[in-house]
Amino acid sequence: MDGTASEPTAATDDTSRAPVLPELGAEPTGSEERSVWDTIHDLPKAELHVHLDGSLRPGTVLELADEHDVELPERDPERLADYLYVRNAENLEDYLARFEVTTSVMQHAGALERVAYELCEDAARENVRYLEIRYSPILLTERGLPLPETVEAPLRGIERARDDHGVEAKLIICGIRNMDPDVSRDLADLAIAFKDRGVVAFDLAGAEYNYPAKKHKNAFYMVRNANVNATIHAGEAYGPESIHQALHYCGAHRIGHGTRLYEDEDLTRYVRDHRIPLEICLTSNVQTRAVDGFSEHPVREYFDRGLVVSLHTDNRLMSQTTVTDEYFRAWKHLDFDLEEIGDMMIAGFRSAFLERDVKKELLEDVIPTVREMTGGAVKPETEVV
Ligand SMILES: [Zn+2]
Repeated sequence: MDGTASEPTAATDDTSRAPVLPELGAEPTGSEERSVWDTIHDLPKAELHVHLDGSLRPGTVLELADEHDVELPERDPERLADYLYVRNAENLEDYLARFEVTTSVMQHAGALERVAYELCEDAARENVRYLEIRYSPILLTERGLPLPETVEAPLRGIERARDDHGVEAKLIICGIRNMDPDVSRDLADLAIAFKDRGVVAFDLAGAEYNYPAKKHKNAFYMVRNANVNATIHAGEAYGPESIHQALHYCGAHRIGHGTRLYEDEDLTRYVRDHRIPLEICLTSNVQTRAVDGFSEHPVREYFDRGLVVSLHTDNRLMSQTTVTDEYFRAWKHLDFDLEEIGDMMIAGFRSAFLERDVKKELLEDVIPTVREMTGGAVKPETEVV
């Protein structure tokens, strides 16, 4: 995904690295776990941090590869899924290498429309009512697809999914940290061109270490100058300085991950006091070793201290996860009860990059449902505003 990652190689049985994810499986065991998982599944959810190129169905990767004559590291569906499912990443860069496989089958308009449709369909099946899908169009032009078509095609998929499944979705365009800032400016232009036509924000993704956000500050100035929202991946593979830059050099309205925010007490208070939402992705953080395990994740501390947090998948394919699984893991490993999970779900809707009137309508529907299903009292801070 980042343009500098090594070529994909065939899956290996590398046992030299201990599996980082012995506890990754989200399968509920026993009747209590089953019942909690079912409730989480049935609750209305918002997904704000999900990568289009990280959320393909394995079968679709194979079919698109056949259709467009693309070579894959594995031909067997199970082995391919296993290769793309990151168990033993050494770091974020290692995790990102898998995206070369998925983007290789996303170089045509039909493919983009299909994968966007299927992602919305998968989300709708677990009662995700609203999602913001992100990706970097520059990675999808290797076979000559014009840049505007890399946005129009997924928008067609989203529209079909809305008609078929009633799910609402918007796009976030990502610049890439380790590419030239000129590329980010071109992508910022693209986000601005599609403002009010399905694109709601601009992001910065890719390798965080050694690639500071402030190098791309001009791109963020352009988007904010055009009244477009900004969110930035930060504090995942690098410390709170990265979050500081995202907020103060680039003017991010939300932070992707923010995992290492707690290392800077003063900045943590700033993020809390300014109600800057953190898009938390538990499984992905464990996979990239941003945290040692689910039970060590700082989201528990952030929630307890009153920060605005909600849970998201990051990559449904590479993490073999769903929004339901993410909230279930918070219940299982971080001692969140259902009422607290309901609070985070509502925070997810409230943090959406939606117009006030649209968001208000959504919240008026979602809040009473969540409160009723989780037994939670209506709280002043979750009033519809
Ligand atoms: Zn991400």
